[in-house]
Amino acid sequence: MIHLSNVSKTFQLKGQSLDAVKDVDLHIEKGEIFGVVGYSGAGKSTLVRLLNLLEKPTNGTVKIADYEMLKLSNRELKRARQEISMIFQHFNLLWSRTVRENIAFPLEIAGVSKAERYEKVAELAKLVGLEGREDSYPSQLSGGQKQRVGIARALANEPKVLLCDEATSALDPKTTNAILDLLHDINQRLGLTIVLITHEMNVIQKICSRVAVMEDGSVVEQGNVLEVFRHPQEEITKSFVKQLT
Ligand code: ATP
Ligand code: MG
Repeated sequence: MIHLSNVSKTFQLKGQSLDAVKDVDLHIEKGEIFGVVGYSGAGKSTLVRLLNLLEKPTNGTVKIADYEMLKLSNRELKRARQEISMIFQHFNLLWSRTVRENIAFPLEIAGVSKAERYEKVAELAKLVGLEGREDSYPSQLSGGQKQRVGIARALANEPKVLLCDEATSALDPKTTNAILDLLHDINQRLGLTIVLITHEMNVIQKICSRVAVMEDGSVVEQGNVLEVFRHPQEEITKSFVKQLT
């Protein structure tokens, strides 16, 4: 479903260049929950942003579903992006809009009629456990509920891929577990491919089937989660495995 070959991203800042992502090869299967773990600055967010082309790679190729991402016209890219959704650490909700209007936002942009939007919102609100809260504003919700709105909004266009950048990092452990359960449930029910970025090994352990470990822009180790946890090869992986409770 997702194929990255030799992907690099170099940022130019005040005459200095910084290799945020270096020569990454990743192959993520359809329907799997793939984790990417690394410390702050490892290049995780840059890597996910390369997947939906929010950042353009300096080198390499990105293929998602049947899209050769770097070869698309603007119009095709817009369509591809509808199939690649994203949720964020700080939810990125529209604060002056209700839950219903937040969830319906991508549909509004896609020109879907009001009646159809309402129907879809009702279905999504039920899926994420927010039934009855459609008229609330984000400020009236808990962190976990806000992320549920983020997830429902991300699912509105019926994407094939969901990118999660530290989606549970602002939440307490209990709420984190509830959101991870929801993501797992959605993965099972909809067959959605999920890429989950985190600095917490517990999150990887709970729902990922495979994991890649990033350090200084490179993927230093990857494989089946149980395998990597049992026999970590790299020092950095060992330090992450020690975090497990
Ligand atoms: P965190 O866990 O703190 O979110 P991260 O693993 O997501 O970290 P990135 O945000 O991908 O790390 O950043 C990787 C490196 O690239 C960092 O050194 C960062 O300063 C740099 N970087 C990221 N975005 C840009 C940008 N737009 N311009 C210049 N440098 C950038
Ligand atoms: Mg980040």
